[in-house]
Amino acid sequence: MKYSLVSSLILQSTIVLGDLLPVHFKAPTAAHFREIVRNDSYDFGCRAVAHPTEDGQFKLHALLTEEQISHLKREYANVPELTIHKADLVKRAATAPIGTGDRFKSGTIAPVGLGTQASGSTISSIMNVAEITSAVNALVKTYGVTTITLPYKTFNGATQVAAYVGAGTDKSKYHLYLSAGVHARERGGPDNLIYWISDLLAANKSGSGLTYGKKSYTNAQVKSVLSAGIVFFPLVNPDGVAYDQSSGSFWRKNRNTKSGSSGSAIGVDINRNFDFLWNFRKYFDSSESPASTSPSSETFYGTAAASESETKNHVSVYDSFPKIRWFMDIHSAAGDILYSWGDDDDQSTTSTMNFLNPSYDGKRGVPGDSVYKEYIPSTDATNIKNVAAKTVAAMKAVGGRSYVSQQAVGLYPTSGATDDYAFSRFWQKPGVNKVYGYTMEFGYSANFYPTATEFNQNILDTNAGFMDWALAAIAVGLE
Ligand SMILES: [Zn+2]
Repeated sequence: MKYSLVSSLILQSTIVLGDLLPVHFKAPTAAHFREIVRNDSYDFGCRAVAHPTEDGQFKLHALLTEEQISHLKREYANVPELTIHKADLVKRAATAPIGTGDRFKSGTIAPVGLGTQASGSTISSIMNVAEITSAVNALVKTYGVTTITLPYKTFNGATQVAAYVGAGTDKSKYHLYLSAGVHARERGGPDNLIYWISDLLAANKSGSGLTYGKKSYTNAQVKSVLSAGIVFFPLVNPDGVAYDQSSGSFWRKNRNTKSGSSGSAIGVDINRNFDFLWNFRKYFDSSESPASTSPSSETFYGTAAASESETKNHVSVYDSFPKIRWFMDIHSAAGDILYSWGDDDDQSTTSTMNFLNPSYDGKRGVPGDSVYKEYIPSTDATNIKNVAAKTVAAMKAVGGRSYVSQQAVGLYPTSGATDDYAFSRFWQKPGVNKVYGYTMEFGYSANFYPTATEFNQNILDTNAGFMDWALAAIAVGLE
């Protein structure tokens, strides 16, 4: 059904970052956005997610060109209740700078997070790519963190490293896995993760606790989280991040030129490249675009499931640490925690209606219908929701802003994403551990380049979120 759309597009001002303008749509129901989000040439950030607003409406954020805005304005000229706004990012302070040089001095000076510093302390810049490597090396040198070199080099030749800490040398004792930097433009993701790990290790060493804004943790909680065994992969997409940091272009994908050699045709969306319903044309209803087959799309899915080195490296971590039970992928910018599934609405009644059953091919991915809903055992559904709720409660308790937890599918399905892949492994590969997968989208909607103030608030928010996510996961169980 074609939803006949929209009208008065309120274009209140102009701020240009690259060619893309941060905007939001507003409408009385999330369903008003359905036709817009089905257009895979529009950029909705990590995922198209409609959030409820305080006045009882719904908001959908996007990054659009002037041309796209003009097109939508014409197309939806007769629907007054759907409006488009680009006011809320106007007159923002300058975005946080990218670090120059190496604040960690070739891995000799350990990063110090905000949770172990006096209230009001700040970090002045976002780490550059070399600094992320240097920070990890400094954690190795200072705290005995161990790194593992991942098997595949990136398209531009970068060697990728994950690290692990807290549960000794036996890799089967590691139950928490966090990754960041999948989407290049989502600035501050790797910093959030590295500074949190640094806090845990500093507090563990000194016998102290951690404080993030109005939220505090005891040393016993720090020790509990560390002993769960943490694996972290802080920069999944180094080629993309290097490009974004040098170009300021809101670059999202990696930099693989196999499918296109110039402009937006370069690169694959790593977060649509994982082996979960990857071949979406086969598995999803034809009206849905959970990813894109077009190389110039921001959600281009690649040339095969796990065609990209970054994806293969990410997957290799599960093989190296076979008892990972909880996974968190760190993204921005929406202000939410997303939990499984992301391909369709959840259901816990019909186990045969699941992503592996070919009789549902071509039927998946239409939220709100009864033709297909993705199966999740009810115990799993309860566990993942409860942990998500505790995570957002901690992020709110910091005192900076509000976050919401919701099922990943929301308004719009996705295929090939890290969180669904994590959870799907248990059913897809006999004998592997069940992994609960989450996506955290820190920060303000479509605000990929935070100001310095926002960058620091994001560190506080996410780090409290990681603490309660880990503590809640431990309470549910690590085995
Ligand atoms: Zn993202």
